[in-house]
Amino acid sequence: MDIEYLYATARQNEQIWRQFQQLELDTLACRHWQGLFDMLFVTLPNRMGFCAVELAFFDPNRRIQNSLLRQLGTLDRYRACLHFLPSLPASLQSLHVLAAHELALSRYASGMHLPLRKQKQIFGYLRLFASADHRFDQHSATDFIEHYSAILAAAVELVLQTEEIERLAYEDPLTQVRNRRGMTQAFDAQLARSCRQEKPLGVVLLDLDHFKAINDSHGHATGDRTLVHFCAIARSCLRPFDYLGRMGGEEFLIILPDCDTQAVLRVVERLRQLVQQTYFFNDLQQPFNITVSGGWGSVAAKEYSLEEVMAKLDKALYKAKQQGRNRINPVKF
Ligand code: GH3
Ligand code: MG
Ligand code: MG
Repeated sequence: MDIEYLYATARQNEQIWRQFQQLELDTLACRHWQGLFDMLFVTLPNRMGFCAVELAFFDPNRRIQNSLLRQLGTLDRYRACLHFLPSLPASLQSLHVLAAHELALSRYASGMHLPLRKQKQIFGYLRLFASADHRFDQHSATDFIEHYSAILAAAVELVLQTEEIERLAYEDPLTQVRNRRGMTQAFDAQLARSCRQEKPLGVVLLDLDHFKAINDSHGHATGDRTLVHFCAIARSCLRPFDYLGRMGGEEFLIILPDCDTQAVLRVVERLRQLVQQTYFFNDLQQPFNITVSGGWGSVAAKEYSLEEVMAKLDKALYKAKQQGRNRINPVKF
């Protein structure tokens, strides 16, 4: 065989190996879904010449699904591409080069299917597609890419663990909505995003009215349950990627990405009315009602700190209390 040809092949293999090594290091450095998805769906196809990438998980206890849902606010580019299916067929649980009939329905000429394993247990797969016929065939070397799938499986576990640790640090244990730290993180990230994309960011500060009286007349346990129930009502008025957080005692903040004043007002009024109409129950199953006051606004892509935003909203909230409560006043930003 021509020695020049052998050299060229060796050089090419070394180059591919280096590319994969860098790709693996970059993949292992990902700590959040957004970074990992950018890696898999943008960097990987660009660097390696794949024209499509598919990632799927077998997720019977919904650990991955719940983690993704909690991160939806950061996944706007991928939101429409996420599908939560009831189950995946077992036939997808082995390594194979995709057969012609599997590709017949797509515009791709060749593909590869790689199972993701955790302690020998398959928990998902990565599929890579190419438009060239022979990019993947039965004879092509698969060791680089198989190694990559092992790295990816480890990276997924790192992302899951990081998300779970952050959730514990960012979550209010009673209501399981975000705490002040979690809201500060969400606000900074969402304001930066809305400045980048020149989209308005809706903000709402809410405080339950006469909450001390609820504790006093029904007991602290009922007070606690009221806070939890209030959060469920608020959540039901929000989109999955909106943020709800408890800033302290009976004070809550909502962050609404891409919401102008009209959109925020709609949410605020729906929520205020729903709270007013809902029956809460004390330990004796006796019903009572609560109301909520607050301030709301839409930050039109300007640099603000959460403290500045909160100070403005707090003024509107204070005014609402003075005006007799059960109202949520607008704030100009
Ligand atoms: P206003 O309408 O002016 O907001 O009156 P308020 O009674 O709601 O406000 P105030 O600040 O006087 O009282 C807030 C109460 O919320 C006092 C505090 O004991 C109670 N609280 C704070 N955190 C919790 C909690 O985690 N559980 C319970 N049950 N009560 C709480
Ligand atoms: Mg209050
Ligand atoms: Mg308060």
